[in-house]
Amino acid sequence: MTLPSTPAPAAHDAGRAPAVVGLPALDAAALDDADPLAAFRSRFLKPEGEPVVAYLDGNSLGRPLADIGDRLAAFTAGPWGQRLIRAWDEEWMDEPFRLGDRLAEVVLGAAAGQTVVADSTSVMIYKLVRAALDAAGPGRDEIVIDRENFPTDRFLVEGIAAERGAALRWITPDPATGVTAADVEAALSPRTAVVLLSHIAYRSGYVADAPAITDAVHRAGALVVWDLCHSAGSVPVELDAWGVDLAVGCTYKYLNGGPGSPAFGYVRAGLQETLQQPIWGWMGAADPFGMTESYVPAAGMRRFITGTPPILAMQPLSAMVELIAEAGGIEAVRAKSVLLTEFAASLADRDLAPLGVQFASPRDPSVRGSHITINHPRFRGVTALLWERGVIPDFRPPHGLRIGLSPLSTSFAEVEAGIEAIRGALTELA
Ligand SMILES: *Cc1c(COP(=O)(O)O)cnc(C)c1O
Repeated sequence: MTLPSTPAPAAHDAGRAPAVVGLPALDAAALDDADPLAAFRSRFLKPEGEPVVAYLDGNSLGRPLADIGDRLAAFTAGPWGQRLIRAWDEEWMDEPFRLGDRLAEVVLGAAAGQTVVADSTSVMIYKLVRAALDAAGPGRDEIVIDRENFPTDRFLVEGIAAERGAALRWITPDPATGVTAADVEAALSPRTAVVLLSHIAYRSGYVADAPAITDAVHRAGALVVWDLCHSAGSVPVELDAWGVDLAVGCTYKYLNGGPGSPAFGYVRAGLQETLQQPIWGWMGAADPFGMTESYVPAAGMRRFITGTPPILAMQPLSAMVELIAEAGGIEAVRAKSVLLTEFAASLADRDLAPLGVQFASPRDPSVRGSHITINHPRFRGVTALLWERGVIPDFRPPHGLRIGLSPLSTSFAEVEAGIEAIRGALTELA
């Protein structure tokens, strides 16, 4: 077949991302050779057995680090096996806050004392949105959210609204991009208590203008909660500089924490003493070992935790945060991410658009995260066939195939093999 010529990469405004280096050519080998982070791929596990041709779902579950088995064995033999219960006093009581601070420093742009690692993302969203709603002044009974937000975010605010007699104000963004500052401004009113938005849209990959939206929410006298599930570890985030009130994110996506690794929560220092989260447990109390009569919240971030923190499940996350730091930090990771999504988009234009595939993500990489979504009515079947062949994107209804490109573990050759496999499967199923 004759392929249409490749569109020249557009000159992009740097906007909210580092300057984009145009792709020299659609040459995977040359791009891998020129990749300053290429060596980091060997830090991830390459299992023997069934080959994975292209892993394009690191945005749903990051690959394990190669030494994670050794690290878990050392943790078992050392702090857990030898120190036993003494390790709680020696290190584990502080671990959710130590790791939170390190995560804040390396990927969240936040000073120490505002981040904790605990709970699942869903539970942490519940706690922070409820705390924000409960702290809102009289007459503020609305939660603003958008219809393209991830289901758990939407379901949680439905539940909170039902529980607290609050109202939901829905934004309906363009599904191929996402929520804009103008969308948010139109939804704000003197009734707004809290706004819950995803920084990066889980389907389109659109990067919301978090600083502008945060300012708009503040001008309206409300608080904002940013869901950073698809941002943390893939794009620069500046929580302190943006003036963000509250944030939550996953650690098993671009932070490679492993299935079910705990979430992180951020609460701006100035808000911590005025908010009270709704799930009162002994570990978030002022005196956990006082066995006191009733609950008094701890000072600072400790009050945002509830029960015993999942220390074992924090180990892979801790290792990945250090790997990002070693790779030169989040700006270096982002620079590769931009090239990966540019490459995938260009190959999709050249090889998949002629088969009727539509691009459903922003074209401008400065407002695009580390994944792209492409649409075709046959993508459900195509995805099933690809999984059998060791090519692993994911499918998001109604007909989106999502290509997630975890920067430190993904090669340009893998992207090329993936797009080629998608083209092959689409042709077969035509
Ligand atoms: C992945 C994801 C979640 C996941 O929540 P869990 O409680 O970890 O299952 C929540 N919100 C967004 C936007 C996500 O992308």
